[in-house]
Amino acid sequence: MGKVTGFIDFQRLEEGYEPVTKRVKNWKEFVIALNADQAKVQGARCMDCGTPFCNSGCPVNNIIPDFNDLVYRGTPADWRQAIDVLHQTNNFPEFTGRVCPAPCEAACTLNVNDDPVGIKSIEHAIIDRAWAEGWVQPQPPAAKTGKRVAIVGSGPAGLAAAQQLARAGHEVTVFEKNSRIGGLLRYGIPDFKMEKTHIDRRVDQMQAEGVTFRTGVLVGALPADAKITNDAKETVTPAQLLAEHDAVLLTGGAETSRDLPVPGRELDGVHFAMEFLPQQNKVVAGDKLKKQLRADGKHVIVIGGGDTGSDCVGTSNRHGAASVTQFELMPMPPEQENKPLTWPYWPSKLRTSTSHEEGCEREFAITTTAFVAGTGKDKGRVVGLKTAQVQWQAGRMSEVPGTQKEWKADLVLLAMGFTAPVATVLEAFGVDRDNRGNARAHTEAQGGYATNVARVFAAGDMRRGQSLVVWAIREGRQAARAVDAFLMGTSSLPR
Ligand SMILES: Cc1cc2nc3c(=O)[nH]c(=O)nc-3n(C[C@H](O)[C@H](O)[C@H](O)COP(=O)(O)OP(=O)(O)OC[C@H]3O[C@@H](n4cnc5c(N)ncnc54)[C@H](O)[C@@H]3O)c2cc1C
Ligand code: SF4
Repeated sequence: MGKVTGFIDFQRLEEGYEPVTKRVKNWKEFVIALNADQAKVQGARCMDCGTPFCNSGCPVNNIIPDFNDLVYRGTPADWRQAIDVLHQTNNFPEFTGRVCPAPCEAACTLNVNDDPVGIKSIEHAIIDRAWAEGWVQPQPPAAKTGKRVAIVGSGPAGLAAAQQLARAGHEVTVFEKNSRIGGLLRYGIPDFKMEKTHIDRRVDQMQAEGVTFRTGVLVGALPADAKITNDAKETVTPAQLLAEHDAVLLTGGAETSRDLPVPGRELDGVHFAMEFLPQQNKVVAGDKLKKQLRADGKHVIVIGGGDTGSDCVGTSNRHGAASVTQFELMPMPPEQENKPLTWPYWPSKLRTSTSHEEGCEREFAITTTAFVAGTGKDKGRVVGLKTAQVQWQAGRMSEVPGTQKEWKADLVLLAMGFTAPVATVLEAFGVDRDNRGNARAHTEAQGGYATNVARVFAAGDMRRGQSLVVWAIREGRQAARAVDAFLMGTSSLPR
Protein backbone atom coordinates (compact mmCIF):
# COMPACT_ATOMS: atom_id res chain seq x y z
CA MET A 1 0.00 0.00 0.00
CA GLY A 2 1.01 3.68 -0.24
CA LYS A 3 2.24 5.35 2.96
CA VAL A 4 0.69 3.78 6.05
CA THR A 5 -0.41 7.15 7.41
CA GLY A 6 -0.67 8.82 4.00
CA PHE A 7 -4.43 9.30 4.17
CA ILE A 8 -3.95 11.29 7.41
CA ASP A 9 -0.79 13.15 6.39
CA PHE A 10 -1.86 14.33 2.94
CA GLN A 11 -4.93 16.04 1.51
CA ARG A 12 -6.52 15.23 -1.83
CA LEU A 13 -4.93 17.35 -4.53
CA GLU A 14 -7.07 18.28 -7.55
CA GLU A 15 -5.64 18.65 -11.05
CA GLY A 16 -5.30 22.30 -12.05
CA TYR A 17 -6.94 24.19 -14.91
CA GLU A 18 -5.75 26.95 -17.20
CA PRO A 19 -7.54 30.20 -16.28
CA VAL A 20 -10.95 30.66 -17.89
CA THR A 21 -9.94 33.85 -19.73
CA LYS A 22 -7.11 31.97 -21.44
CA ARG A 23 -8.77 28.63 -22.17
CA VAL A 24 -11.97 29.96 -23.78
CA LYS A 25 -9.82 31.48 -26.53
CA ASN A 26 -8.84 28.11 -27.93
CA TRP A 27 -9.91 24.45 -28.30
CA LYS A 28 -7.01 22.87 -26.45
CA GLU A 29 -7.23 20.71 -23.34
CA PHE A 30 -6.74 22.87 -20.26
CA VAL A 31 -6.34 20.37 -17.42
CA ILE A 32 -2.91 20.61 -15.79
CA ALA A 33 -2.02 17.03 -14.93
CA LEU A 34 -0.27 16.11 -11.67
CA ASN A 35 3.51 15.90 -11.89
CA ALA A 36 5.30 12.80 -10.63
CA ASP A 37 5.78 14.21 -7.11
CA GLN A 38 2.14 15.22 -6.80
CA ALA A 39 0.98 11.85 -8.14
CA LYS A 40 3.24 10.17 -5.58
CA VAL A 41 1.49 12.03 -2.78
CA GLN A 42 -1.93 10.99 -4.16
CA GLY A 43 -0.71 7.39 -4.36
CA ALA A 44 0.56 7.63 -0.77
CA ARG A 45 -3.00 8.34 0.40
CA CYS A 46 -4.36 4.98 -0.77
CA MET A 47 -5.13 2.65 2.16
CA ASP A 48 -5.08 -0.56 0.07
CA CYS A 49 -8.47 -1.41 1.56
CA GLY A 50 -9.19 -5.08 2.26
CA THR A 51 -12.33 -4.57 0.18
CA PRO A 52 -11.29 -1.99 -2.41
CA PHE A 53 -14.63 -0.39 -3.27
CA CYS A 54 -12.84 1.67 -5.93
CA ASN A 55 -12.17 -1.52 -7.88
CA SER A 56 -15.81 -2.61 -8.00
CA GLY A 57 -17.02 0.99 -8.50
CA CYS A 58 -14.94 1.12 -11.71
CA PRO A 59 -16.84 -0.41 -14.67
CA VAL A 60 -13.60 -1.87 -16.09
CA ASN A 61 -12.52 -2.95 -12.61
CA ASN A 62 -9.17 -1.16 -12.77
CA ILE A 63 -6.75 -2.64 -10.21
CA ILE A 64 -6.53 0.72 -8.49
CA PRO A 65 -4.72 -0.04 -5.20
CA ASP A 66 -1.88 -1.70 -7.14
CA PHE A 67 -1.18 1.22 -9.46
CA ASN A 68 -1.62 3.70 -6.61
CA ASP A 69 1.12 1.85 -4.72
CA LEU A 70 3.45 1.73 -7.72
CA VAL A 71 3.11 5.47 -8.30
CA TYR A 72 3.79 6.05 -4.60
CA ARG A 73 7.00 3.96 -4.86
CA GLY A 74 7.85 6.10 -7.85
CA THR A 75 10.92 4.61 -9.57
CA PRO A 76 10.84 4.51 -13.39
CA ALA A 77 10.42 0.73 -13.16
CA ASP A 78 7.40 1.22 -10.87
CA TRP A 79 5.79 3.68 -13.29
CA ARG A 80 6.39 1.25 -16.12
CA GLN A 81 4.73 -1.51 -14.14
CA ALA A 82 1.87 0.85 -13.29
CA ILE A 83 0.94 1.22 -16.97
CA ASP A 84 1.04 -2.56 -17.38
CA VAL A 85 -1.39 -2.90 -14.45
CA LEU A 86 -3.65 -0.23 -15.94
CA HIS A 87 -3.62 -1.79 -19.40
CA GLN A 88 -4.64 -5.16 -17.95
CA THR A 89 -8.18 -3.84 -17.52
CA ASN A 90 -8.41 -0.75 -19.73
CA ASN A 91 -7.27 -0.44 -23.35
CA PHE A 92 -7.47 3.35 -23.36
CA PRO A 93 -6.66 4.99 -20.01
CA GLU A 94 -5.90 8.27 -21.83
CA PHE A 95 -9.61 8.50 -22.73
CA THR A 96 -10.94 7.66 -19.27
CA GLY A 97 -8.17 9.63 -17.53
CA ARG A 98 -9.61 12.69 -19.29
CA VAL A 99 -13.37 12.26 -19.63
CA CYS A 100 -14.48 9.66 -17.10
CA PRO A 101 -16.71 10.99 -14.31
CA ALA A 102 -14.72 8.64 -12.04
CA PRO A 103 -17.26 6.42 -10.28
CA CYS A 104 -14.16 4.84 -8.66
CA GLU A 105 -13.62 8.02 -6.65
CA ALA A 106 -17.26 8.10 -5.54
CA ALA A 107 -16.72 4.53 -4.32
CA CYS A 108 -13.33 5.14 -2.62
CA THR A 109 -13.44 4.55 1.14
CA LEU A 110 -11.90 7.98 1.72
CA ASN A 111 -14.92 9.52 -0.01
CA VAL A 112 -16.81 8.79 3.19
CA ASN A 113 -14.90 11.88 4.40
CA ASP A 114 -15.31 13.66 1.06
CA ASP A 115 -11.61 13.24 0.43
CA PRO A 116 -11.21 10.35 -2.05
CA VAL A 117 -7.87 9.37 -3.53
CA GLY A 118 -7.42 11.27 -6.83
CA ILE A 119 -7.60 8.02 -8.78
CA LYS A 120 -8.45 9.60 -12.12
CA SER A 121 -5.57 12.07 -11.85
CA ILE A 122 -3.19 9.17 -11.13
CA GLU A 123 -4.53 7.26 -14.15
CA HIS A 124 -4.04 10.38 -16.27
CA ALA A 125 -0.45 10.80 -15.05
CA ILE A 126 0.43 7.13 -15.62
CA ILE A 127 -0.79 6.93 -19.21
CA ASP A 128 0.61 10.31 -20.27
CA ARG A 129 4.02 9.32 -18.93
CA ALA A 130 3.75 5.91 -20.59
CA TRP A 131 3.18 7.53 -24.00
CA ALA A 132 5.95 10.06 -23.40
CA GLU A 133 8.43 7.33 -22.42
CA GLY A 134 7.53 5.15 -25.42
CA TRP A 135 6.13 2.37 -23.22
CA VAL A 136 2.93 2.05 -25.25
CA GLN A 137 3.86 -0.14 -28.19
CA PRO A 138 1.91 -2.32 -30.62
CA GLN A 139 1.32 -5.87 -29.39
CA PRO A 140 0.75 -7.90 -32.57
CA PRO A 141 -0.37 -11.48 -32.00
CA ALA A 142 2.18 -14.29 -32.06
CA ALA A 143 -0.06 -16.31 -34.41
CA LYS A 144 -3.05 -15.66 -36.63
CA THR A 145 -6.28 -17.68 -36.38
CA GLY A 146 -7.49 -17.08 -39.94
CA LYS A 147 -10.89 -15.93 -38.60
CA ARG A 148 -12.35 -12.67 -39.88
CA VAL A 149 -14.34 -10.29 -37.66
CA ALA A 150 -16.22 -7.14 -38.77
CA ILE A 151 -16.86 -4.41 -36.23
CA VAL A 152 -19.51 -1.82 -37.11
CA GLY A 153 -18.75 1.50 -35.38
CA SER A 154 -15.45 2.90 -34.14
CA GLY A 155 -16.41 4.42 -30.78
CA PRO A 156 -14.72 3.24 -27.59
CA ALA A 157 -16.70 -0.03 -27.58
CA GLY A 158 -15.69 -0.91 -31.15
CA LEU A 159 -12.08 0.14 -30.61
CA ALA A 160 -11.67 -1.85 -27.38
CA ALA A 161 -13.19 -4.93 -29.01
CA ALA A 162 -11.05 -4.53 -32.13
CA GLN A 163 -7.84 -4.28 -30.13
CA GLN A 164 -8.65 -7.32 -28.03
CA LEU A 165 -9.69 -9.43 -31.01
CA ALA A 166 -6.64 -8.45 -33.09
CA ARG A 167 -4.36 -9.37 -30.19
CA ALA A 168 -6.13 -12.74 -30.07
CA GLY A 169 -4.99 -13.27 -33.67
CA HIS A 170 -8.17 -12.53 -35.63
CA GLU A 171 -8.36 -10.50 -38.84
CA VAL A 172 -10.35 -7.47 -37.67
CA THR A 173 -11.92 -4.79 -39.88
CA VAL A 174 -13.65 -1.77 -38.33
CA PHE A 175 -16.34 -0.15 -40.50
CA GLU A 176 -17.14 3.49 -39.69
CA LYS A 177 -19.64 5.69 -41.57
CA ASN A 178 -17.87 8.90 -40.55
CA SER A 179 -14.65 10.15 -42.07
CA ARG A 180 -12.63 9.72 -38.90
CA ILE A 181 -12.33 7.00 -36.28
CA GLY A 182 -13.51 7.44 -32.68
CA GLY A 183 -17.33 7.65 -32.47
CA LEU A 184 -18.44 10.17 -29.87
CA LEU A 185 -14.86 10.53 -28.67
CA ARG A 186 -14.19 12.11 -32.04
CA TYR A 187 -17.38 13.99 -32.90
CA GLY A 188 -19.25 14.38 -29.60
CA ILE A 189 -16.72 15.21 -26.91
CA PRO A 190 -15.13 18.61 -27.70
CA ASP A 191 -11.38 18.96 -28.19
CA PHE A 192 -11.07 21.08 -25.07
CA LYS A 193 -12.07 18.00 -23.04
CA MET A 194 -10.07 15.52 -25.11
CA GLU A 195 -7.77 16.37 -28.02
CA LYS A 196 -8.07 13.95 -30.89
CA THR A 197 -4.38 13.07 -31.17
CA HIS A 198 -5.11 10.57 -28.39
CA ILE A 199 -7.39 8.66 -30.77
CA ASP A 200 -5.01 8.98 -33.72
CA ARG A 201 -2.08 7.37 -31.96
CA ARG A 202 -4.26 4.47 -30.77
CA VAL A 203 -5.40 4.00 -34.37
CA ASP A 204 -1.72 3.84 -35.41
CA GLN A 205 -1.02 1.33 -32.66
CA MET A 206 -3.99 -0.83 -33.65
CA GLN A 207 -3.07 -0.74 -37.34
CA ALA A 208 0.35 -2.04 -36.36
CA GLU A 209 -1.43 -4.80 -34.46
CA GLY A 210 -3.28 -5.79 -37.63
CA VAL A 211 -6.60 -3.92 -37.40
CA THR A 212 -7.97 -2.56 -40.70
CA PHE A 213 -10.04 0.64 -40.54
CA ARG A 214 -12.55 1.47 -43.26
CA THR A 215 -13.98 4.96 -42.83
CA GLY A 216 -16.82 6.50 -44.84
CA VAL A 217 -18.59 3.12 -45.05
CA LEU A 218 -22.16 2.79 -43.82
CA VAL A 219 -23.31 -0.69 -42.90
CA GLY A 220 -27.06 -1.14 -43.43
CA ALA A 221 -29.21 1.94 -43.88
CA LEU A 222 -30.10 5.28 -42.26
CA PRO A 223 -33.49 6.97 -42.53
CA ALA A 224 -33.40 9.78 -45.13
CA ASP A 225 -34.26 12.46 -42.54
CA ALA A 226 -31.86 11.24 -39.82
CA LYS A 227 -30.09 14.22 -38.24
CA ILE A 228 -27.01 12.15 -37.58
CA THR A 229 -23.41 12.71 -38.62
CA ASN A 230 -22.90 10.58 -41.70
CA ASP A 231 -19.97 11.04 -44.08
CA ALA A 232 -20.46 7.69 -45.82
CA LYS A 233 -19.53 7.44 -49.49
CA GLU A 234 -20.15 3.72 -49.65
CA THR A 235 -22.75 1.32 -48.26
CA VAL A 236 -22.23 -2.29 -47.31
CA THR A 237 -25.20 -4.58 -46.67
CA PRO A 238 -25.39 -6.88 -43.64
CA ALA A 239 -25.53 -9.84 -46.04
CA GLN A 240 -22.21 -8.78 -47.64
CA LEU A 241 -20.63 -8.33 -44.23
CA LEU A 242 -21.77 -11.73 -43.00
CA ALA A 243 -20.64 -13.39 -46.23
CA GLU A 244 -17.11 -12.01 -45.82
CA HIS A 245 -16.67 -12.44 -42.06
CA ASP A 246 -16.98 -15.19 -39.47
CA ALA A 247 -18.57 -12.86 -36.92
CA VAL A 248 -19.95 -9.32 -36.80
CA LEU A 249 -19.97 -7.08 -33.73
CA LEU A 250 -22.36 -4.12 -33.76
CA THR A 251 -21.04 -1.14 -31.79
CA GLY A 252 -22.90 1.64 -33.58
CA GLY A 253 -23.81 3.68 -30.49
CA ALA A 254 -27.19 5.17 -29.61
CA GLU A 255 -27.39 8.07 -32.02
CA THR A 256 -31.10 8.96 -31.98
CA SER A 257 -31.38 12.28 -30.13
CA ARG A 258 -34.40 12.87 -27.86
CA ASP A 259 -36.58 15.53 -29.51
CA LEU A 260 -38.79 18.25 -28.04
CA PRO A 261 -41.95 18.28 -30.19
CA VAL A 262 -43.49 21.55 -28.97
CA PRO A 263 -44.87 24.34 -31.21
CA GLY A 264 -42.12 26.02 -33.20
CA ARG A 265 -39.76 23.02 -33.18
CA GLU A 266 -39.34 23.39 -36.96
CA LEU A 267 -37.91 26.92 -36.69
CA ASP A 268 -34.47 27.70 -37.98
CA GLY A 269 -32.07 28.02 -35.04
CA VAL A 270 -33.45 25.05 -33.07
CA HIS A 271 -30.97 22.19 -33.39
CA PHE A 272 -29.89 18.98 -31.78
CA ALA A 273 -26.64 19.25 -29.82
CA MET A 274 -25.28 16.57 -32.11
CA GLU A 275 -25.79 18.83 -35.13
CA PHE A 276 -23.78 21.56 -33.39
CA LEU A 277 -20.91 19.76 -31.60
CA PRO A 278 -19.59 17.53 -34.44
CA GLN A 279 -19.27 20.52 -36.76
CA GLN A 280 -16.92 22.27 -34.36
CA ASN A 281 -14.81 19.14 -33.91
CA LYS A 282 -14.55 18.86 -37.69
CA VAL A 283 -13.43 22.47 -37.97
CA VAL A 284 -10.78 21.93 -35.28
CA ALA A 285 -9.61 18.91 -37.29
CA GLY A 286 -9.11 21.17 -40.32
CA ASP A 287 -12.26 20.42 -42.33
CA LYS A 288 -13.77 23.23 -44.37
CA LEU A 289 -17.53 23.36 -43.81
CA LYS A 290 -19.84 25.19 -46.20
CA LYS A 291 -21.73 26.82 -43.33
CA GLN A 292 -20.95 26.12 -39.71
CA LEU A 293 -23.63 26.30 -37.04
CA ARG A 294 -22.12 28.87 -34.66
CA ALA A 295 -23.09 30.74 -31.51
CA ASP A 296 -21.15 34.00 -32.06
CA GLY A 297 -23.00 36.96 -30.54
CA LYS A 298 -26.13 34.84 -29.99
CA HIS A 299 -28.28 34.28 -26.96
CA VAL A 300 -27.96 30.53 -26.60
CA ILE A 301 -30.31 28.31 -24.64
CA VAL A 302 -29.23 24.74 -24.05
CA ILE A 303 -32.06 22.40 -23.12
CA GLY A 304 -30.74 19.48 -21.08
CA GLY A 305 -28.55 19.54 -18.02
CA GLY A 306 -26.16 16.63 -18.69
CA ASP A 307 -22.70 16.15 -20.20
CA THR A 308 -23.83 16.89 -23.75
CA GLY A 309 -25.49 20.12 -22.62
CA SER A 310 -22.37 21.11 -20.74
CA ASP A 311 -20.29 20.55 -23.89
CA CYS A 312 -22.68 22.86 -25.78
CA VAL A 313 -22.09 25.50 -23.09
CA GLY A 314 -18.30 25.27 -23.42
CA THR A 315 -18.47 25.33 -27.22
CA SER A 316 -20.88 28.32 -27.28
CA ASN A 317 -18.63 30.31 -24.96
CA ARG A 318 -15.64 29.60 -27.19
CA HIS A 319 -17.66 30.86 -30.16
CA GLY A 320 -18.30 34.11 -28.27
CA ALA A 321 -22.01 33.74 -27.45
CA ALA A 322 -23.74 36.83 -26.03
CA SER A 323 -25.27 34.70 -23.26
CA VAL A 324 -25.56 31.01 -22.44
CA THR A 325 -28.39 29.57 -20.36
CA GLN A 326 -28.93 25.91 -19.59
CA PHE A 327 -32.30 24.39 -18.67
CA GLU A 328 -32.79 21.24 -16.63
CA LEU A 329 -36.20 19.62 -16.15
CA MET A 330 -35.33 18.11 -12.78
CA PRO A 331 -35.09 20.18 -9.59
CA MET A 332 -31.65 21.36 -8.48
CA PRO A 333 -30.02 18.42 -6.67
CA PRO A 334 -28.42 18.96 -3.24
CA GLU A 335 -24.88 20.37 -3.19
CA GLN A 336 -23.83 17.64 -0.78
CA GLU A 337 -25.06 14.07 -1.06
CA ASN A 338 -26.41 12.12 1.90
CA LYS A 339 -23.26 10.03 2.31
CA PRO A 340 -24.61 7.15 4.46
CA LEU A 341 -27.41 6.75 1.94
CA THR A 342 -25.31 6.91 -1.24
CA TRP A 343 -21.74 5.74 -0.63
CA PRO A 344 -20.15 3.76 -2.35
CA TYR A 345 -22.58 4.37 -5.22
CA TRP A 346 -22.70 7.28 -7.65
CA PRO A 347 -24.57 10.05 -5.84
CA SER A 348 -27.05 12.52 -7.24
CA LYS A 349 -25.68 15.96 -6.39
CA LEU A 350 -25.16 19.33 -8.00
CA ARG A 351 -22.25 19.06 -10.40
CA THR A 352 -20.62 22.15 -11.80
CA SER A 353 -18.54 21.34 -14.86
CA THR A 354 -15.55 23.29 -16.09
CA SER A 355 -17.78 24.52 -18.93
CA HIS A 356 -20.30 25.89 -16.43
CA GLU A 357 -17.44 27.74 -14.70
CA GLU A 358 -16.65 29.44 -18.02
CA GLY A 359 -19.99 31.26 -17.95
CA CYS A 360 -23.53 29.95 -17.87
CA GLU A 361 -26.84 30.62 -16.14
CA ARG A 362 -28.46 27.41 -14.95
CA GLU A 363 -32.20 26.99 -14.52
CA PHE A 364 -33.72 23.96 -12.83
CA ALA A 365 -37.24 22.48 -12.74
CA ILE A 366 -38.12 24.25 -15.97
CA THR A 367 -39.95 23.01 -19.05
CA THR A 368 -40.06 24.53 -22.53
CA THR A 369 -43.61 24.85 -23.83
CA ALA A 370 -43.00 26.56 -27.20
CA PHE A 371 -40.38 28.15 -29.44
CA VAL A 372 -41.17 31.71 -30.53
CA ALA A 373 -40.91 32.62 -34.23
CA GLY A 374 -39.46 35.91 -35.38
CA THR A 375 -41.12 38.34 -37.78
CA GLY A 376 -39.82 40.50 -40.65
CA LYS A 377 -36.20 39.61 -41.39
CA ASP A 378 -36.36 36.97 -38.65
CA LYS A 379 -39.37 35.21 -40.18
CA GLY A 380 -38.92 31.44 -39.87
CA ARG A 381 -36.22 31.86 -37.25
CA VAL A 382 -36.39 31.25 -33.54
CA VAL A 383 -36.16 34.44 -31.48
CA GLY A 384 -37.23 33.12 -28.12
CA LEU A 385 -38.89 30.38 -26.14
CA LYS A 386 -41.65 30.00 -23.58
CA THR A 387 -41.23 28.12 -20.36
CA ALA A 388 -42.94 27.21 -17.13
CA GLN A 389 -41.54 26.02 -13.81
CA VAL A 390 -42.43 22.45 -12.92
CA GLN A 391 -42.88 20.53 -9.71
CA TRP A 392 -42.38 16.83 -9.14
CA GLN A 393 -44.57 14.73 -6.91
CA ALA A 394 -44.41 10.93 -6.67
CA GLY A 395 -42.43 10.86 -9.92
CA ARG A 396 -45.03 12.92 -11.78
CA MET A 397 -44.33 16.33 -13.22
CA SER A 398 -46.79 19.23 -13.34
CA GLU A 399 -46.50 22.89 -14.32
CA VAL A 400 -46.56 25.44 -11.53
CA PRO A 401 -49.40 27.85 -12.33
CA GLY A 402 -48.39 31.45 -12.92
CA THR A 403 -44.73 30.68 -13.70
CA GLN A 404 -44.88 31.12 -17.47
CA LYS A 405 -41.98 33.12 -18.84
CA GLU A 406 -40.57 34.12 -22.23
CA TRP A 407 -36.83 34.06 -22.96
CA LYS A 408 -34.80 35.61 -25.74
CA ALA A 409 -32.97 32.98 -27.80
CA ASP A 410 -31.23 33.05 -31.19
CA LEU A 411 -29.90 29.52 -30.93
CA VAL A 412 -31.53 26.64 -29.05
CA LEU A 413 -29.58 23.42 -28.59
CA LEU A 414 -31.47 20.27 -27.66
CA ALA A 415 -29.28 18.15 -25.40
CA MET A 416 -31.82 15.93 -23.70
CA GLY A 417 -30.03 12.67 -24.26
CA PHE A 418 -30.44 9.89 -26.78
CA THR A 419 -33.37 7.55 -27.01
CA ALA A 420 -31.90 4.55 -28.84
CA PRO A 421 -29.65 3.28 -31.62
CA VAL A 422 -30.80 4.04 -35.16
CA ALA A 423 -33.56 1.47 -35.71
CA THR A 424 -32.90 0.93 -39.42
CA VAL A 425 -29.38 -0.36 -38.78
CA LEU A 426 -30.62 -3.04 -36.38
CA GLU A 427 -33.57 -3.80 -38.65
CA ALA A 428 -31.25 -4.32 -41.61
CA PHE A 429 -29.55 -7.08 -39.62
CA GLY A 430 -32.85 -8.44 -38.27
CA VAL A 431 -31.58 -7.92 -34.72
CA ASP A 432 -34.27 -7.96 -32.01
CA ARG A 433 -34.58 -4.83 -29.88
CA ASP A 434 -35.46 -4.52 -26.21
CA ASN A 435 -38.27 -2.28 -24.95
CA ARG A 436 -35.96 0.76 -25.09
CA GLY A 437 -35.04 0.07 -28.71
CA ASN A 438 -31.50 -1.19 -27.98
CA ALA A 439 -30.01 -4.33 -29.53
CA ARG A 440 -31.20 -7.20 -27.35
CA ALA A 441 -28.31 -9.21 -25.89
CA HIS A 442 -27.45 -10.15 -22.32
CA THR A 443 -23.96 -9.86 -20.81
CA GLU A 444 -23.60 -13.16 -18.96
CA ALA A 445 -20.35 -15.05 -19.41
CA GLN A 446 -22.10 -17.81 -21.43
CA GLY A 447 -23.62 -16.58 -24.68
CA GLY A 448 -23.16 -12.96 -23.68
CA TYR A 449 -23.39 -10.13 -26.24
CA ALA A 450 -24.87 -12.52 -28.86
CA THR A 451 -28.00 -11.23 -30.59
CA ASN A 452 -30.81 -13.37 -31.99
CA VAL A 453 -29.04 -13.37 -35.39
CA ALA A 454 -26.42 -16.08 -35.82
CA ARG A 455 -22.83 -14.73 -35.76
CA VAL A 456 -23.99 -11.19 -34.88
CA PHE A 457 -23.04 -9.65 -31.52
CA ALA A 458 -23.75 -6.20 -30.03
CA ALA A 459 -22.04 -4.04 -27.38
CA GLY A 460 -21.63 -0.50 -26.05
CA ASP A 461 -24.35 2.14 -26.30
CA MET A 462 -25.98 0.14 -29.10
CA ARG A 463 -26.72 -2.62 -26.58
CA ARG A 464 -26.97 -0.78 -23.25
CA GLY A 465 -28.28 2.62 -24.41
CA GLN A 466 -26.63 5.98 -23.89
CA SER A 467 -23.89 5.57 -21.30
CA LEU A 468 -20.24 6.39 -20.61
CA VAL A 469 -16.90 5.83 -22.34
CA VAL A 470 -15.76 3.53 -19.55
CA TRP A 471 -18.87 1.32 -19.92
CA ALA A 472 -18.30 1.19 -23.68
CA ILE A 473 -14.71 0.00 -23.10
CA ARG A 474 -15.93 -2.65 -20.66
CA GLU A 475 -18.56 -3.90 -23.10
CA GLY A 476 -16.10 -3.91 -26.00
CA ARG A 477 -13.64 -6.00 -24.00
CA GLN A 478 -16.27 -8.44 -22.76
CA ALA A 479 -17.86 -8.75 -26.21
CA ALA A 480 -14.41 -9.45 -27.69
CA ARG A 481 -14.03 -12.38 -25.33
CA ALA A 482 -17.50 -13.63 -26.26
CA VAL A 483 -16.71 -13.41 -29.99
CA ASP A 484 -13.32 -15.08 -29.49
CA ALA A 485 -14.92 -17.94 -27.52
CA PHE A 486 -17.58 -18.31 -30.24
CA LEU A 487 -14.93 -18.52 -32.98
CA MET A 488 -12.39 -20.68 -31.16
CA GLY A 489 -14.46 -22.66 -28.64
CA THR A 490 -12.51 -21.08 -25.79
CA SER A 491 -10.89 -17.73 -25.03
CA SER A 492 -7.98 -16.53 -22.96
CA LEU A 493 -9.00 -12.88 -23.32
CA PRO A 494 -9.87 -11.28 -19.96
CA ARG A 495 -13.53 -10.60 -19.24
C1 LIG B 1 -21.59 15.29 -26.50
C2 LIG B 1 -21.28 14.07 -25.69
C3 LIG B 1 -20.38 14.17 -24.65
C4 LIG B 1 -20.08 13.06 -23.88
N1 LIG B 1 -19.18 13.19 -22.88
C5 LIG B 1 -18.83 12.11 -22.16
C6 LIG B 1 -17.85 12.22 -21.13
O1 LIG B 1 -17.33 13.29 -20.85
N2 LIG B 1 -17.50 11.09 -20.46
C7 LIG B 1 -18.06 9.87 -20.75
O2 LIG B 1 -17.67 8.88 -20.14
N3 LIG B 1 -18.99 9.74 -21.71
C8 LIG B 1 -19.39 10.83 -22.42
N4 LIG B 1 -20.34 10.70 -23.39
C9 LIG B 1 -20.90 9.37 -23.69
C10 LIG B 1 -19.91 8.51 -24.48
O3 LIG B 1 -19.27 9.28 -25.46
C11 LIG B 1 -20.60 7.30 -25.08
O4 LIG B 1 -21.26 6.58 -24.06
C12 LIG B 1 -19.60 6.38 -25.78
O5 LIG B 1 -18.87 7.05 -26.77
C13 LIG B 1 -20.33 5.18 -26.40
O6 LIG B 1 -19.40 4.42 -27.12
P1 LIG B 1 -19.84 3.43 -28.27
O7 LIG B 1 -18.58 2.87 -28.82
O8 LIG B 1 -20.86 2.48 -27.77
O9 LIG B 1 -20.59 4.32 -29.36
P2 LIG B 1 -20.21 5.69 -30.10
O10 LIG B 1 -19.11 6.40 -29.43
O11 LIG B 1 -21.49 6.40 -30.29
O12 LIG B 1 -19.65 5.21 -31.52
C14 LIG B 1 -20.51 4.59 -32.46
C15 LIG B 1 -19.90 4.74 -33.84
O13 LIG B 1 -20.59 3.87 -34.73
C16 LIG B 1 -20.73 4.52 -35.99
N5 LIG B 1 -21.86 3.89 -36.68
C17 LIG B 1 -23.14 3.82 -36.23
N6 LIG B 1 -23.90 3.13 -37.11
C18 LIG B 1 -23.09 2.77 -38.12
C19 LIG B 1 -23.30 2.05 -39.32
N7 LIG B 1 -24.51 1.56 -39.63
N8 LIG B 1 -22.26 1.85 -40.16
C20 LIG B 1 -21.02 2.34 -39.84
N9 LIG B 1 -20.77 3.04 -38.71
C21 LIG B 1 -21.78 3.23 -37.85
C22 LIG B 1 -21.00 5.96 -35.59
O14 LIG B 1 -20.73 6.83 -36.67
C23 LIG B 1 -20.04 6.13 -34.42
O15 LIG B 1 -18.79 6.58 -34.89
C24 LIG B 1 -20.70 11.82 -24.16
C25 LIG B 1 -21.63 11.72 -25.20
C26 LIG B 1 -21.93 12.84 -25.95
C27 LIG B 1 -22.93 12.75 -27.05
S1 SF4 C 1 -11.07 2.52 -1.97
FE1 SF4 C 1 -9.69 4.35 -2.06
S2 SF4 C 1 -8.29 4.06 -0.32
FE2 SF4 C 1 -9.30 2.06 -0.66
S3 SF4 C 1 -7.93 0.91 -2.05
FE3 SF4 C 1 -9.36 2.04 -3.36
S4 SF4 C 1 -8.34 4.00 -3.84
FE4 SF4 C 1 -7.25 3.10 -2.08
